[in-house]
Amino acid sequence: MSKISRRSPPTPATRSWTLRHWQLRTVPHPAKVFLLLVELTAVAITVALLVAQRVSTAEWVRLGVLTFLAIGYAEAGARIERLKRYLSPGGDKVASNQVSVWAFAAVLTVPSGWAAVLVALLYGQYLVRRCRDRTGVPYRVIFAGATVMLSAEAAGALVTWDGGGDVLRGGLRAPVVVIAALLVFTLVNFGVLLTGMCLVRRPPTLRAMLPDSDSFGYEIATLALGIVTAEFLVHSLALTPVALILAAYLHRSSLVNSLHRSSRTDPKTGLPNLPAWTEHAQAVLAHSHRHGQTVTILFCDLDHFKVVNDMYGHQVGDRVLAAVAQCLRRELRGHDGIGRFGGEEFVVVLDAISAAEADAVAGRLRTAVSALHFDDDLTITMSVGMASHEPGLVAPELQPLIGRADKALRIAKADGRNRVRAA
Ligand code: GH3
Ligand code: MG
Ligand code: MG
Repeated sequence: MSKISRRSPPTPATRSWTLRHWQLRTVPHPAKVFLLLVELTAVAITVALLVAQRVSTAEWVRLGVLTFLAIGYAEAGARIERLKRYLSPGGDKVASNQVSVWAFAAVLTVPSGWAAVLVALLYGQYLVRRCRDRTGVPYRVIFAGATVMLSAEAAGALVTWDGGGDVLRGGLRAPVVVIAALLVFTLVNFGVLLTGMCLVRRPPTLRAMLPDSDSFGYEIATLALGIVTAEFLVHSLALTPVALILAAYLHRSSLVNSLHRSSRTDPKTGLPNLPAWTEHAQAVLAHSHRHGQTVTILFCDLDHFKVVNDMYGHQVGDRVLAAVAQCLRRELRGHDGIGRFGGEEFVVVLDAISAAEADAVAGRLRTAVSALHFDDDLTITMSVGMASHEPGLVAPELQPLIGRADKALRIAKADGRNRVRAA
């Protein structure tokens, strides 16, 4: 059940950055224990490694060059980072950033304890930047930093086990060790991050948090660039700044993914917007026709929503819309496509079920919305119009189906609202 209050959410400018407001109190207890454990382990292993590992003069030089490049790059690339955050707010998925380039280059070229120190330094700088912008949640930045430190240490352990020293020496063994280190780095990074995020947010499905193929590709590309940087560091130090150009263009190209996602998502509800939903619905219709299945469109409209805005204000109205979208999404978990048609209207395409089953789904959605609880005795109801296309010779067409569902919706409204009507 959803709780909506009339108070406005904290805006980034007013969100306090004192310790008391680190949002840690919203984190469940087991998650807090896990985060703390990861952070303490990362620090303890780093200290132990620093004590045990010797650093040669060449390694000090590499570490100095890497630190200089990484810190300089982070400041120069802050604008791209900010734009990316703006395009994909929320951060519900495991995400990657440019730190992996320098972290992985360090894993391959300096003792792993110092690679972890570099990571801590870069995340410290990132934390300061987020404090300056008054964005982000500090405990998440610290946890992400500790995770990358552990990843660097795990991958570094593999490199050390291989004999340490110059892992990038010639021969067939080197590429195998480097690829294995890359896999270890990625697995530890995603594994620990996912566990932490699942404990914090308890998502309905693990899939909701997994990075999409583009984000995963970006992570692998940053690590590959780490390998290239390491090669420069070891074999042609003077060329190392070339890595900056590659990093900048890789970073910029990662915006394409964020832009694509943002152009297809409705910012208020997080649902696919009308063009994105239409594309999906048309694919579902074509698939249903090919497989001789019934396809149904539901047209949902909140009842007397104008009154909600008039009585409680448009900000509350917006939060009700987001809560309804979340509720519908929860009820429709699976591959059923839901989108925001516009205003307080949502559209759903259901395939591979009969018209009678679709009618039951529509009833379930209507009941779930009316069961939502908000503060101030605010309740909401929803009317649904549905139109089905039975399999046959004629292919279903989206716009006429939507038109019929809309007509059925008007009948549901005329019949007294809070009901489902079929065309
Ligand atoms: P009905 O039961 O006949 O559907 O009545 P209604 O009041 O829901 O319908 P009407 O079309 O008269 O009003 C829809 C309202 O939805 C008007 C508009 O202010 C509000 N609305 C549309 N989009 C948004 C939005 O993004 N946020 C908020 N807060 N309100 C919105
Ligand atoms: Mg309405
Ligand atoms: Mg309407």
